[in-house]
Amino acid sequence: LSSATLADIDPSRLEVIRTSKPKEIPPSSSLKFGHTFTDHMLTIPWTVEAGWGVPQIRPYGPLELEPSSTVLHYAQTIFEGMKAYQDPNGRVTLFRPDMNMKRMNTSAYRIALPTFDGDALLELIKKLIRIDKSWIPREPGHSLYVRPTLIGNQRAIGVAPPNEALLFVILSPVGPYYPNGFKPVSLYGTTEYVRASPGGTGAFKLGVNYAPGILPQKHAAGQGYDQNLWLHGPEHYLTEVGTMNMFVVFNKDGGYELVTPPLDGMILPGVTRDSVLTLAREHASGVKTIPGLPRNITVSERPVTMKEVKEASKSGRLAELFGAGTAAVISPVDKIGYLGEDVHIPTGSDGMGPISRPIWTELVGRQTGAIPSDWSVVV
Ligand code: PMP
Repeated sequence: LSSATLADIDPSRLEVIRTSKPKEIPPSSSLKFGHTFTDHMLTIPWTVEAGWGVPQIRPYGPLELEPSSTVLHYAQTIFEGMKAYQDPNGRVTLFRPDMNMKRMNTSAYRIALPTFDGDALLELIKKLIRIDKSWIPREPGHSLYVRPTLIGNQRAIGVAPPNEALLFVILSPVGPYYPNGFKPVSLYGTTEYVRASPGGTGAFKLGVNYAPGILPQKHAAGQGYDQNLWLHGPEHYLTEVGTMNMFVVFNKDGGYELVTPPLDGMILPGVTRDSVLTLAREHASGVKTIPGLPRNITVSERPVTMKEVKEASKSGRLAELFGAGTAAVISPVDKIGYLGEDVHIPTGSDGMGPISRPIWTELVGRQTGAIPSDWSVVV
C-alpha cells in the first residue's frame, strides 16, 4: 500500500460505548487542575499497514500497553492542551482549536508519529465534549481542559518510526488558575539549565521537552522562586517562563513597546502568544480597538536579553513582564532572581500592568464567548 491509500481519521466510523457506571461530578470548588477526569475518552488506533482505524468514545480508564511499547522507552509522545467553556445558557465553545490541531500535526511530524486530518479529529473531540457536557463547570473562570495525546506503540525495542500508534483524548474540568485574583509570580533566571537549543525540539509540544524541566523547577522552588525563566546563550536571551511564552513591556517614547521573543525554533508557538500579539497589533493599527489599552503601543517579535531587562528595571523603563499560556492565560511576574540579585518588575495593585490588564480582559471575554469573535468555535 502506498501512503496515499492509507485511511485518515474518519468521524463517520465512530463507535460509542457509554459508561454503565457514571461517576459523581465533584463540586467545582474542589477541583485541582488536571486531577479530575470525565466519564469518557476518545481513542483512535493507527497502524502503518492500514492508517487510522476506528475511533471509539468509551469509558475513561486504563490503556493496555506491552512493556516493550516504544513510548515507554523512547518518549514517542506528543500532546495538546485547550479549553472548552460553557456559558450560563449552556452554550459550549472552544478557543481557536484549529491552532491546536495544526500544532499537534507539526509535533507528530517532528518525531515521526503519524499525522492526520485536524478537522476530523476536532469533529470527534466535539462529540466527546458533547457526551460529557454535564461535566463542564459553568462558574466564571472555570472550563473543561481538553488533552489530546498521541503515542508511538510499536511492541519492539529499537529506535525507529513506530508501526503502531494510539491517539487518545481525555477531558478534565478545571477551576481558575488564580481563584483569588492575580498573584504575581517570581522567576529564577536559570544559567545552569536550558529548556531548548538551536536545532532541538523546543518549538514542538513533545513529552520529551517537559520531564527535563522538573528538576530545574525543584531547584528554583528550593531557592524561593515560583518558576524558571529559561535563558539562552551567553547573552542570556529570555525565551520562555515555566511552561508559558513570555512578554516584556518597555516604556518607550511616551508609550509602550510590547516584546516577545521570535519563533526561532526554541520557542513553542503558543495559541495565547499568537492571540496577545494579534490583539495588540490590531489595536495598534486601529483595526480593532481594545478598551483600556493605550493607543501608543509598538509590537515587536525580537530577541531580548537579561541585560536589557535589568537596565530597564534600574532606569524605570520596564513597565511589566508576564507569561502567557492556556492554563493561566496571563501570569504577571514581579521579580527575577538573576546571578545572585533580584531584578524588580512593576505590578499594579491588582497584580497586573497597563498592557496585560486590558489584553487579559479582551482575551478572556473572547474565550468565554462573552465578547463575540470568530476565535470562539461552537461545540
Ligand atoms: N510554552 C510551553 C513550553 C508550553 O508548554 C505552553 C503550553 N502549551 C505554552 C508555551 C503556551 O502555549 P498555549 O498558549 O498554546 O497554551
